[in-house]
Amino acid sequence: MTPAEQQSLLAYLKIQKIPYSHSTPRSFTSSINQNDHDLVVALNDPNQLTDLIKHINTINPSLSVTAIGGGRDDTNNSYSLNNLWKDTDIFIQLAYQPSLTLLPKENNNAEQLFRVSPNMMLVELNQALYDRGYHCPHLYGVLPFMSLAGGLSTNSHTTFGFLADIVEGIELLLPNGEKKYFKKDSEDFNVNCVTASLGLLGIITAIDIKVLTGKKKLKRVHSLLTYENLVNKIQGTEKDGAHLNSLSVIFSPIKLQANTSTKLTTWSWVDEATPDQGNPEPQIADDSISVTCCAPFFAIFRPTFLYCFFQSAAVTKQETQIARPDAIMGPESKIAGNITAIELLFDYDKTKIKDFFMYLLSILSNARKTGDFPVNTAVFIRFPQQSAGNHQVAIDFISFGLHLTKIEPLVNELIDYLNNQSIPAHVHYGKNNAISINSRYATSENSWQKLKMKYQQFYERHGLNSDVLRKKIAGLESPDQPKAVQVTQAVSDDYQRLRM
Ligand SMILES: Cc1cc2nc3c(=O)[nH]c(=O)nc-3n(C[C@H](O)[C@H](O)[C@H](O)COP(=O)(O)OP(=O)(O)OC[C@H]3O[C@@H](n4cnc5c(N)ncnc54)[C@H](O)[C@@H]3O)c2cc1C
Repeated sequence: MTPAEQQSLLAYLKIQKIPYSHSTPRSFTSSINQNDHDLVVALNDPNQLTDLIKHINTINPSLSVTAIGGGRDDTNNSYSLNNLWKDTDIFIQLAYQPSLTLLPKENNNAEQLFRVSPNMMLVELNQALYDRGYHCPHLYGVLPFMSLAGGLSTNSHTTFGFLADIVEGIELLLPNGEKKYFKKDSEDFNVNCVTASLGLLGIITAIDIKVLTGKKKLKRVHSLLTYENLVNKIQGTEKDGAHLNSLSVIFSPIKLQANTSTKLTTWSWVDEATPDQGNPEPQIADDSISVTCCAPFFAIFRPTFLYCFFQSAAVTKQETQIARPDAIMGPESKIAGNITAIELLFDYDKTKIKDFFMYLLSILSNARKTGDFPVNTAVFIRFPQQSAGNHQVAIDFISFGLHLTKIEPLVNELIDYLNNQSIPAHVHYGKNNAISINSRYATSENSWQKLKMKYQQFYERHGLNSDVLRKKIAGLESPDQPKAVQVTQAVSDDYQRLRM
């Protein structure tokens, strides 16, 4: 944006009394470069949005505008780890109070439609539904402060399934200021919600979702089992009546062997009247000083200690019923520091899953032997179900303080393995470096090349200015790596000790 264009826009914002600041979106992590020359416009009134976008078009129709999803007030503005923001001229923060409106009921008595504002965070949505006597399995087992629009725009999933699968339609404000409604199953709906649209196609202004009637509590049962037994359980899940999409698994990859303890959480909805058992507790981490300061410190300088702590504190056996949905997810989002996470996604295949997990075990153990250990914190696995009924395997590799380039080869190796087994794999676009990794797997339906084609077709269908898309894509493809603390000598020393 030229200085003259910026002056013209600022004059408009002042007249309309729309607050703005010169900064980048604040990030959940420090992976997004902060500066004081980008323009963030905070909209406190949703009714001002269309006129604002139209006005920007009168200044210069090639300016690129991107919505920021999560966070209002003092919470984080963005939950994403990737450099999603480069080459954006104007960021729009949807700072107004989110709303949830009942829509006319469908024939099916077990279901209800609601219209949700895009900036409502999943944790707020869970609570608001509960307060009105509804629940929605698709919203649990995920980090809490992502907005519904941010989650949809990155094609996010939870433990249960993909957020897109509860959506019946979205209202989108196109980059030219025109508002359109896209119904489920249409081509325009799919490119916005079923694939990651990353804020490239416009600003989602309303989301219609389908939820279940009944005020329910969420019950989670933690059990400990060895890695080997866990793999057997995953393979034989349907036999014992459990469903893959009710499971989440977490373990420390450090010192991983077939007999290492892993923690399996099984989730189910119980009737509101069921007496409480146990206390609500955070899932993996909390916002105490031990997590925000001590854990990152130990992850970088003494990973062996973190491993011991993780095994004794996080991998423990408990049964919990969570009385109120605002406690479902805990305050994990406050985890500070240089967290890096790459998520690998692929189709669940019962006949091949055991071999995959044994291969994972072998390469994690091998990484330990070579001292080149890419994941110092946790491996987190879920099996979200897709609308077609089949499951995905979603594996997060989570590290504190390690540079992304350490995790990327590990994920690449796994993708190669899966491709050799004829299982298409890709990396979740909401997380670190996904575009660069996916762009190397151009044959898959979820490849970056394929997505780019779909975005271009969307722009053509709606007669939009393709310069805007080109500019945004160039930003996303920029080779800049997010910053992360370099592995220090102390880490290498600790890894040497691990090898012994
Ligand atoms: C530690 C960590 C753990 C995570 N865990 C999970 C997980 O368990 N499951 C999972 O699926 N994902 C997970 N994610 C990824 C997360 O789902 C995405 O990063 C999500 O998009 C963040 O939502 P947000 O509201 O912060 O959006 P932002 O980060 O602000 O935005 C994400 C994208 O959505 C676009 N966007 C936001 N709002 C709108 C709108 N109104 N209209 C159009 N575009 C919009 C933005 O332009 C941007 O491209 C995790 C991320 C982190 C950092």
